[in-house]
Amino acid sequence: MIKKPLLHIRRKSLLYKTGVEYGDYTINHVEGCSHGCMYPCYAMLMARRFGKVKSYEEWIQPKLVINAADLLRKEIPKYRDKIKFVHLCFTTDPFMYGYQEIADMSIRLIELLNEAGIKCTALTKGSLPPKLAEFSKENEYGITLISLNEAFREEYEPYSEPYNERIQGLHALHQKGFKTWVSIEPYPTPNIVTQDFGKILDAVSFVDKIIFGRLNYNAKASEYSDHKGYYTHLSRQVIEFCKKKKKEYHIKSGTMIVTQEETPCSSTKKTEKEVMAENLELQGIFKKHRGTRIKKVYD
Ligand code: SF4
Repeated sequence: MIKKPLLHIRRKSLLYKTGVEYGDYTINHVEGCSHGCMYPCYAMLMARRFGKVKSYEEWIQPKLVINAADLLRKEIPKYRDKIKFVHLCFTTDPFMYGYQEIADMSIRLIELLNEAGIKCTALTKGSLPPKLAEFSKENEYGITLISLNEAFREEYEPYSEPYNERIQGLHALHQKGFKTWVSIEPYPTPNIVTQDFGKILDAVSFVDKIIFGRLNYNAKASEYSDHKGYYTHLSRQVIEFCKKKKKEYHIKSGTMIVTQEETPCSSTKKTEKEVMAENLELQGIFKKHRGTRIKKVYD
């Protein structure tokens, strides 16, 4: 792995309410993401569109918000009564593979939120630290897993944690009694990679919840003949798997052609307004942090 040096930036605010599916309040305490996903990454597309980063090379050089803990201490009293839970992260990854300082900050933020009685959820394509087991049992942890094929990972998620290690990190937290989930999104079509979807489901059959979503913003996925039918078929496979094993599930908007009898979600259904809010959200984030200054550079 080519590890880029970590940069430091400072910000004026941290916590905000998100309109994203299954979201409440969110923290993005890193700008950019070393995992460098090539699907492409929607957060990177938005960051480039709004002039936050100029290139892929710049995106994969993460910038840690070094005053994140101070900001959070100030913001918690203001929002505490409104927050149901805080998610780490929406536009970056809280446990970036190979960046201990980012993991340390994420752990500190979770600790501060839990001390204030606030539940946290975290999603990663990196390493879930065993230390997370020391925090509130209310917390929920997830990984993204769209393949078990390491050659595919090296091409499409080049600097992320290898799949087996990622699954093991999640499994360890499951064993400690935490609620865990897997996000199988953005799932590639067979003209990108041929794989056995059932094997992926089996590899994470211990989790409490499965989220499934199609690959967007990639011409190859749309070129695949009957991609709508393909994603609908896999969505039904997820629903059947989860119903049989009594797990929660959520099929992301636009992934499945839904019939009247079908429910793409085992819990609360998202409103149309929430779908629109999600699409507008990233644009707002990158506009908001346009003026952020880089403070310090080190290896
Ligand atoms: S892990 Fe997430 S934020 Fe990071 S590059 Fe991949 S898709 Fe983007």
